[in-house]
Amino acid sequence: MFDVVTGGAGFIGSHLVDTLVAQGNEVLVIDSLCAGRRETIARHIDDYKVRLVQMDLLEDGWQEHLEGADRMFHLAADPDVRQSAVNPFPTMQNNIMATYRILEAMRLHNIPELVFTSTSTVYGDAAVIPTPENYTPLEPISVYGASKLACEALISSYCHSFGMKTWIFRFANIIGARSGHGVITDFIRKLNENPAELEILGDGKQTKSYLEVHECIAAMLYATGKAKGTVNTFNIGSEDWIDVKSIAEIVTEEMHLPTTKFRFTGGERGWVGDVPKMQLSVEKIKGLRWKPQIGSRESVRLAVRDLLKER
Ligand code: NAD
Repeated sequence: MFDVVTGGAGFIGSHLVDTLVAQGNEVLVIDSLCAGRRETIARHIDDYKVRLVQMDLLEDGWQEHLEGADRMFHLAADPDVRQSAVNPFPTMQNNIMATYRILEAMRLHNIPELVFTSTSTVYGDAAVIPTPENYTPLEPISVYGASKLACEALISSYCHSFGMKTWIFRFANIIGARSGHGVITDFIRKLNENPAELEILGDGKQTKSYLEVHECIAAMLYATGKAKGTVNTFNIGSEDWIDVKSIAEIVTEEMHLPTTKFRFTGGERGWVGDVPKMQLSVEKIKGLRWKPQIGSRESVRLAVRDLLKER
């Protein structure tokens, strides 16, 4: 099996690459390294198990490496929800335009299968929680969520028009080693700078579902082996949730900082486009007989420990 992984030097991508290599697949990574790091996959490159094409998907040249590919995992994106409200342009380019360019390259090189990493933010402030895949109306409240929904629509049209198949995974918050963004990374960075006080964006009551990255990779690969429709859309998350203040407590506990004071910036949202309550229904993927093995609290603790080891 010849797999292409865009964003394969990033957080989730590099864990996916580890698993694909372990399965004996030939892997090509396309990553500009704008956020990813070569070190995350360096051992596979040194072992000639992975080829890295360090290029921006918005430029030309990477397409010539695709000949013979069986499957495309398209993870490269600008994943920053908060920044997408400050400056939408990079989100449009790295998410929508890059996905369109991937689809065109797949069409021209006859690559039949696309695995795409979407997000819970396509649901916006959903009225039904846990939110199932068939929830409507899809009304994203962040530019990032809108960009991913646009990608989903483009992918669906290409699959129906050009005989491709896709697996679209709408992730909850995925956390773990090598993560370069998100609430846990943010808390650790702030506490390293000032262990006496931790600024928490919003009122700390935002409650969301978190899933450890290895569970996420297992779910993705499991579902791609089982679901065989043209467009296969699945939520991936844990079956419970945790609030931001509890995450702050776990981080300070693991960093042995019992006296840190929490300072809340206030308001029910941490930033423009923040969804205060998110839990995804995972009944659909459970129907394929996959189930998360751990919940949000345990995922957070494992991720904090792994990230602290990287300091
Ligand atoms: P990440 O930033 O660690 O990885 C993204 C990778 O894509 C980086 O290595 C970056 O260098 C690369 N990249 C970005 N733009 C590129 C471009 N134009 N050309 C080539 N390479 C480019 O992010 P992540 O958390 O690993 O996210 C992976 C995917 O999962 C993204 O599509 C993201 O939207 C999605 N996702 C992540 C989460 C999460 O909780 N981490 C949740 C929902 C969805």
